[in-house]
Amino acid sequence: MLEFRTDYLEDLSVEVVRSLLSYRADLPAIVTCRDKREGGAIDYPETLRIDVLLAALDTGAEFVDLEYANFLNPGVRSRIEAGLARNPEGRLILSAHDFRGPFESVERLYDEILAACPQAVPKLVYTAKHINDCFAAFDLMHGAEKPVIALCMGQPGLISRVLAPKVGSLVTFASLDEASGTAPGQVSLEQFRGLYRYDSIDAETELFGVIADPVAHSASPAIHNACFAEQRMNKLYLPLLVEGGRGRLYDFLDNVLARPWLDFRGFSVTIPHKHSALEYVRRKSACIEPLAQLIGAANTLIMPTGRSIAAYNTDYAGALDAIRAGLGAKDDALDGLTVAVVGAGGVARAIVAGLCDAGAEVTIYNRTVERAEQLADDFDCAFSGLDGLDQLDAQLVVNCTSIGMHPNVDRSPVPEDALKPGMTVFDTVYNPVETLLLEQAQAAGARTVDGVTMFVNQAMAQFKLFTNQEGNPHLMREVVVRSL
Ligand code: NAP
Repeated sequence: MLEFRTDYLEDLSVEVVRSLLSYRADLPAIVTCRDKREGGAIDYPETLRIDVLLAALDTGAEFVDLEYANFLNPGVRSRIEAGLARNPEGRLILSAHDFRGPFESVERLYDEILAACPQAVPKLVYTAKHINDCFAAFDLMHGAEKPVIALCMGQPGLISRVLAPKVGSLVTFASLDEASGTAPGQVSLEQFRGLYRYDSIDAETELFGVIADPVAHSASPAIHNACFAEQRMNKLYLPLLVEGGRGRLYDFLDNVLARPWLDFRGFSVTIPHKHSALEYVRRKSACIEPLAQLIGAANTLIMPTGRSIAAYNTDYAGALDAIRAGLGAKDDALDGLTVAVVGAGGVARAIVAGLCDAGAEVTIYNRTVERAEQLADDFDCAFSGLDGLDQLDAQLVVNCTSIGMHPNVDRSPVPEDALKPGMTVFDTVYNPVETLLLEQAQAAGARTVDGVTMFVNQAMAQFKLFTNQEGNPHLMREVVVRSL
């Protein structure tokens, strides 16, 4: 279906619109001439805007879109009603927009529009200031008995655009390319059909997503959706921008659990919400995997029926599998292994928990020595400042800091001459794939493991929790590397 936003045309005339409509072949058309006060591009007079809609109806356009506020003007209303009477196949979309934020009551506005014109399709578009604002639109569509269009603008509203066929919006709007959107947060046609598998979404589609802030850079939607597509699963994975602190995350999860009909089945969780996600599940007295409990963070939430929630941590298993593969060794290879962990943040904590659980002898090196000390206390390890790396003596070195990450690719957390043959060096940084640390380790004759291996492993473990099926690690790796 094509929407003709005729308010973007310079030198707009009735003749131009008639001639444009002849180019649409057999595609149904919506013709819109948006009032500048509701987001229109060029400020055309009302008479011309209505003339354009009437010409569209006379030329056989399936839909014309008029602002509800303007329809309330009796002169406009009578002309539009006469046009609709001449083309009984044509339908009227009555739209309302709020670019500042959500409507006071989207339901009330919907009722008002239908009371004014029972044959109209109400179109309600508002700016979501937060992802939680999308739920009002979902509720409206869930309860609506007549066709309706409800969408949220802005980055936090993205899921309302993508989920239109799931929640029953009559249409959603895609831009022809990234540069030519006509409203904030619009998704391009290519993204809809590729990344978001728009053509396979229906009312039964199960939903997953990554909860993060920021989220736009995340490779997770691309890798999980690629695996869903490969296995022809009716599942969709979304980027879920949850801004704000713990309270906003809790609201989001409450909103999801209160609406099992949305069919959310699982989430990946990342910065800055991993600790709060675990705390949310703890407060619900729900199931927490013992290791997630030990690490104090959850990177995976599962909702098998949409009504209950459980917490897991796959960072741990992802890193340990990557290390074992790098060592070329079996499960007991970590017992007694001397390990230098550089960093004392969230990822370091998960990896230290895993290594200690497997019997490794770990020393933690960190810029902020107090953080190293605290982590070392929790897991009964040794600790040092980063200067201790000059006398590095370990069989395995793991970088859990962001040193060396894009754009600071010419930095390494470990002095080059501390790297020795026979060592194994694992860098959790995965952008770039080949960090300076790994390059120098290879040159010194050490074995190396890259961060993409860990990323793919933890995603594989999540995919298994999400679907009970194995994902495709080769496809995941290919998609991650391509997205980098
Ligand atoms: P985090 O909790 O913020 O911890 C960051 C760590 O890096 C801290 O130890 C911090 O030291 C140290 N650090 C940061 N900048 C530094 C600098 N300029 N000089 C020295 N130390 C510095 O972050 P996180 O969640 O643990 O993530 C750490 C890294 O892991 C990320 O950057 C990412 O590359 C990687 N990661 C990989 C995967 C994967 O699947 N491969 C997944 C997640 C994360 P202080 O304590 O002194 O601040």
